[in-house]
Amino acid sequence: MRIAEIFYSVQGEGRLIGVPSVFIRTSGCNLRCVWCDTPYTSWRPEGEQWDIDKVLREVRNSSSRFVVITGGEPLLAQGIEELTEALKKNGSHITIETAATIFKPVVCDLLSMSPKLANSTPWNKAGGKYARMHEAARLNFPVMQSFLDGYDCQLKFVVDQAADFEEVREILASLKHVDPAQVLVMAQGRTARQIHSKAKWIVEYCKQHGYGYTPRLHIDLYGNRRGT
Ligand code: SF4
Repeated sequence: MRIAEIFYSVQGEGRLIGVPSVFIRTSGCNLRCVWCDTPYTSWRPEGEQWDIDKVLREVRNSSSRFVVITGGEPLLAQGIEELTEALKKNGSHITIETAATIFKPVVCDLLSMSPKLANSTPWNKAGGKYARMHEAARLNFPVMQSFLDGYDCQLKFVVDQAADFEEVREILASLKHVDPAQVLVMAQGRTARQIHSKAKWIVEYCKQHGYGYTPRLHIDLYGNRRGT
């Protein structure tokens, strides 16, 4: 599989925020979010081919059993099912971070879905050439439902303005068995300042709906940098 980077850091978002974790970041994505903060896995994918043994050796170098498989879109990666099985045999706690547009029967302890809202569509980027593809692919309800039915899930939404909450509500209304406590909202932004500037009104909306607000701890600690 093509790997952009493997690094040891701290989970910055969601239910396991603050937990020291090894991050396996695959390269390649079927979406092109306009605000993507890892363009080296999507708009301009980078990275080398790694076999599973090499990935496992790198993971064993860290002192945490918590592993986060992220991307890009990790469910595109060849051999992802085998990797998750091997990590589980090694005793890892596995989180998979996915946009939930592709289903694969991976092994994991936490399936972290981040369905992409309309605010992600790149209508004015790269001459708009990826916009229709992105728009057609960004929400896949059967895939989301399969994950919800078979895994322990959290749903993370990236919100940019108040109107985005209406889209979140519509998406959740199309899915079964979602507890609002599984839903986490985070602010769109590349810097701590941008994120903090939206936190207050987002928290107020979260309070109305019973959703959680998630900060982005890694941005607070390190800024938007690779390997963090
Ligand atoms: S799904 Fe994730 S990796 Fe892919 S373009 Fe969107 S933000 Fe970037």
